[in-house]
Amino acid sequence: SGNGAKGTNGGIVVPEIKFTKLFINGEFVDSVSGSTFETRDPRNGDVIANIAEGDKEDVDLAVKAAREAFDHGKWPRMSGYERGRIMMKFADLIEAFIEELAALDTLDAGKLLSMGKAVDIPAAVHIIRYYAGAADKIHGYTLKLSSELQGYTLKEPIGVVGVIIPWNFPTTMFFLKVSPALAAGCTMVVKPAEQTPLSALYYAHLAKLAGVPDGVINVVPGFGPTAGAALSSHMDVDSVAFTGSAEIGRAIMESAAKSNLKNVSPELGGKSPMIVFDDADVDMAVSLNSLAVFFNKGEVCVAGSRVYVQEGIYDEFVKRAVEAARSWKVGDPFDQSRNMGPQVDKDQFESVLKYIEHGKSEGATLLTGGKPAADKGYYIEPTIFVDVTEDMKIAQEEIFGPVMSLMKFKTVEEGIDCANNTKYGLAAGILSQDLDLINTVSRSIKAGIIWVNCYFGFDLDCPYGGYKMSGNCRESGMDALDNYLQTKSVVMPLHNS
Ligand code: ADP
Repeated sequence: SGNGAKGTNGGIVVPEIKFTKLFINGEFVDSVSGSTFETRDPRNGDVIANIAEGDKEDVDLAVKAAREAFDHGKWPRMSGYERGRIMMKFADLIEAFIEELAALDTLDAGKLLSMGKAVDIPAAVHIIRYYAGAADKIHGYTLKLSSELQGYTLKEPIGVVGVIIPWNFPTTMFFLKVSPALAAGCTMVVKPAEQTPLSALYYAHLAKLAGVPDGVINVVPGFGPTAGAALSSHMDVDSVAFTGSAEIGRAIMESAAKSNLKNVSPELGGKSPMIVFDDADVDMAVSLNSLAVFFNKGEVCVAGSRVYVQEGIYDEFVKRAVEAARSWKVGDPFDQSRNMGPQVDKDQFESVLKYIEHGKSEGATLLTGGKPAADKGYYIEPTIFVDVTEDMKIAQEEIFGPVMSLMKFKTVEEGIDCANNTKYGLAAGILSQDLDLINTVSRSIKAGIIWVNCYFGFDLDCPYGGYKMSGNCRESGMDALDNYLQTKSVVMPLHNS
């Protein structure tokens, strides 16, 4: 059946794992070395499946297939309309398997099944359709030039793209990169995160069923320093689209520079502020804020993890924020009655707990949470610190877990300065009723997206990306196509003689 179940456990239906090998040139194959790695279930640490482990030799084969498909294959040469039609079929197939695909990400990443079905997988379908619709609307412009010359620009696909993605949104990250790359006419080698390879392999299979030619999408699961590094240093890869930490973004940009100077589109970390002014609607501020930090167990690059509250409402806000934090129901992400699952793996679980210890030892006050939330699995209680100062690790570093740092500020200028006191610049939230204040603050915050009286206000048509060390490309919207295109100018004389 389309939604084949491996077994039930207390009414919870766990999906069958169908694809565990590398996908190269349209076929599922073992790795050259024959080695595999384990992907684990964060609910209990158990092994879900052994996945073929891609390394340099496998990346070489995948890049060769992508190179051939780009240099000699149909995909970059067919009309945008035809590419769009195949992408539409791909989207239809994903829509047909929503339940099973959502369950794969729940099993692999500990994401809520209810969210996967309602948000992540439908968003993937939407993303493909959006860029499918764009595939036949990619154009350059005409240039009048001097009296003797005229010209035009061609927007050409950039070539073979290495797609390196993280584990927090395995499906969304895959499609935010693969879809515009497909629309542009690129071919690609995708390296999913080692924690979450399952859904990407399934998408490779569905792409083939939809009619995406062999070699256009290759998927090579494996580790960062091996498979990932092989992609970013490859002489035949023209561009790398990356989402992950700033540290790894830097490593990728270095190896891109040291090899063939390939383009890199980095979407990196964040430590996004939410600024709550005295005149904000406190009910709304508390609930938005709780969502901003604890949604997807805090494994969100735009998490609003630094919360600055103006002194007039600070005490009330803190009291209510603690109540809101305690109302999250931490537990099995397959269980519809839970709304926070486990951290993705043991490393992340331990890293978040370590940050919590830092917070305590640096003198912040732990108001709620701070401990594992279950005897087994990687669950952590929603955690709030107050008395946090700007220099503390928990105020500066991306924790990627359910940990909120609450800080008090007095004047508007102080609020702006604090919000900008970070090496990152991904997102910011502003809560106020005062339009003048909102406009002043929106224009003063150095971040790629500002959410006013909302948070996670995502719309596919809205470009999104980082200022400062959060990256330098834009994803989503028509702007994302630029990451996968390059401009050629064609110039000719006006007259033959
Ligand atoms: P996170 O902190 O979200 O785990 P990382 O930046 O560590 O993010 O990883 C994101 C992606 O980058 C993963 O697919 C990972 O395997 C890959 N990666 C890690 N190290 C490297 C590297 N040195 N070169 C290329 N890719 C890497």
